[in-house]
Amino acid sequence: MTEATSRLATRVKLKDAHLVTRMTDIAEGLPDVIKLGRGDPDLDTPAHIIKAGQEALANGATHYMHPLGMPALRRAIADNIAAYGGARYEPENIVVTPGGQHAMFVIALALLNPGDEIMVPCPGYNPYHQAAEMAGAETVHIRTSMETNFCVTAEMVRAHITPRSKILVLINPNNPTGTVTPPAEVARIAEVAKEHDLIVISDEIYSRLTYGNHTVQPVAALPGMFERTITLSGMSKAYAMTGWRIGYFAGPPDLIPALAEINHAFAISTASVSQHAALAALTGPQDCVEDMRAIYDERRRVLCAGLTELGIPYAEPQGAFYVYADVSKTGIGATLFCERLLREGQVLMYPGGIYGDYTDDFVRMSLTQPVARIREALTRMKAVVDTIRAE
Ligand code: PLP
Repeated sequence: MTEATSRLATRVKLKDAHLVTRMTDIAEGLPDVIKLGRGDPDLDTPAHIIKAGQEALANGATHYMHPLGMPALRRAIADNIAAYGGARYEPENIVVTPGGQHAMFVIALALLNPGDEIMVPCPGYNPYHQAAEMAGAETVHIRTSMETNFCVTAEMVRAHITPRSKILVLINPNNPTGTVTPPAEVARIAEVAKEHDLIVISDEIYSRLTYGNHTVQPVAALPGMFERTITLSGMSKAYAMTGWRIGYFAGPPDLIPALAEINHAFAISTASVSQHAALAALTGPQDCVEDMRAIYDERRRVLCAGLTELGIPYAEPQGAFYVYADVSKTGIGATLFCERLLREGQVLMYPGGIYGDYTDDFVRMSLTQPVARIREALTRMKAVVDTIRAE
């Protein structure tokens, strides 16, 4: 243990030289890098939303807001959830937060005791693991694979249940895999959750971004699930609002007051300017979401076609804006592959290990560059793959 780590709380489990930081540092020293790394849309927040934020600032939206969030915004969130087939929430059962990620830590700290188990999909969005660790709980990884297109099934959940199981995290569509759990499977999983008295955190932040005929079944709307589900979402992805830092969670009336109190202790309230912008996003024209979805869809097709040509298999991306590809045939492991692709081809993508990939076979590519840059990334990738194959 070094001098520095001995001064940290034992709950802090540092990973050696965090991969994202290392990749970012390498990328910063290179010219013309094509960034398919972070899940941050290259598209700007739609103009009418920015305008609402500007107007709100001009009109004095510079103060703390209601601890749960601006009432009009919570009403708009409730209406929006219901409009897309979700549960009918009352505004007092919704808490606005500085991003969905913040919400994960609030929920974990409010609900998990040391020793409790929280099941998370693996690969899956990694901060859930960190939130569980901070709460002193045990993370139980539900390992998924290409066989189920990286979707969690009811059987998998059942196989991981112990007397200490308390929470199940479902992320639909999932990050990093971009896969959507079929509605019928979500319903089966819900039955297991009821049988074993689990709380479900249903992360539906990408639910407006699905492709083809794939749709997301909101968990809280299923029979008997409202009282045991916390729906987590936010404005970052569907409205390209990552930098505004605004998200929310919604849950049953018996849990929300305590969760709201913890959120208040952490955040006091979410930035007022962002709340006004979010209100404009949810109550204004929705064609901007469809326009962005169509842009990601085209990028997805181009990237997938290129990967097929390169002989690189991938999970069928059905939602979100990621492609999860299997680079094991290169024979060097996904982590080294990413590093070489970055240094030799100036293309940034992340190894699946960041998201709990237990094989070091997969990489995540974000669809956050225009089609021309994605084509250029494929050309560069081919050159690096050819070099590796020739070694
Ligand atoms: N949930 C998932 C699955 C994500 O991928 C992300 C961000 O990438 C978040 C939640 C958090 O988003 P934000 O904190 O920007 O709302």
